[in-house]
Amino acid sequence: VEAVVSKSRGRSVRASSVNITHPDRVIDPTSGVTKGELAQYHQQVSEWILPYADKRPLALVRCPQGNASQCFFQKQKLPGFSDEIEATKVAGHDILFTRSARGLLELVQFNAVELHGWGATAADPDRPDWLVIDLDPDTHLPFSAVVEAAQEVRGIFDELKMTSFVKTTGGKGLHVVVPILPKADWETVKGFTQSVATALAQHAPARYVATMTKAKRVGKIFVDYLRNGQGATAVLPYSPRARPGVTVAMPVAWRDLTHLDPRDFDVRSAPGWLRKRRKDPWADFFSVRQTLPDFDAPATQGR
Ligand code: ATP
Ligand code: MN
Ligand code: MN
Repeated sequence: VEAVVSKSRGRSVRASSVNITHPDRVIDPTSGVTKGELAQYHQQVSEWILPYADKRPLALVRCPQGNASQCFFQKQKLPGFSDEIEATKVAGHDILFTRSARGLLELVQFNAVELHGWGATAADPDRPDWLVIDLDPDTHLPFSAVVEAAQEVRGIFDELKMTSFVKTTGGKGLHVVVPILPKADWETVKGFTQSVATALAQHAPARYVATMTKAKRVGKIFVDYLRNGQGATAVLPYSPRARPGVTVAMPVAWRDLTHLDPRDFDVRSAPGWLRKRRKDPWADFFSVRQTLPDFDAPATQGR
């Protein structure tokens, strides 16, 4: 995919034959980032984002008004989409997915700002190929508390001899992502992640909570395992966010976690940062071959 989005006042521009209309439309008043810049971002990072988006059922956060408060999730194909965007039905869910960088750009043309994905591909939609532990800090917690939580989650997977990866979300939390061979079904994978969440909450109840209940989350980190059901999604690596600054979800190295600020990664800064990056910290993501062990949280043992 070649970068051909140019600055142009009010005219549409062609981005590798995807017509990007309204390139000057501001999608984030805080930063002034435009739809054209968003298309440009996708052209620059397509080789990074495509492996994670490829054939994966998507949920788009679309912002046709260019205003974050009016964005909405969309999981179905629109009549205007070309063949680059495929659609089918899986277990009662209407899904859409693409196999190409062109398809991703087309989604941008349709005002998709965020790309969220299932933990499985359309090729094998009943068997997850990754799991996500979504760490959601209560508003007043410092980022360092989330870093600590992610490291503890990593520790659990280390003990299970499983390789885990971490990414910023473009928001306040972190996602620990674990690639798995698509063997177990959703119920098994979700049950497993629930056990991880429960184990953490029992080990440090003052810091972690494994239940959705808002009131119980005050001052704590919600270990959100609910991203792991069929039809549930997590923001994709490298996806922009419809948030102030148009931050991006960035895969990072475990050793860099302690000295980074997730707000530093945004659609303007990330491409340059990626070019300078010495090594992709997620380079082994698709070559790691691992499966879930039999896992019981202390709480469920003997019940
Ligand atoms: P943060 O770090 O700020 O928590 P996040 O992306 O993890 O960012 P969450 O609110 O924890 O945000 O949501 C986790 C994931 O759940 C999202 O990335 C998204 O894929 C999915 N999600 C959240 N809300 C919805 C929704 N209303 N409809 C569909 N999917 C959603
Ligand atoms: Mn989260
Ligand atoms: Mn969450």
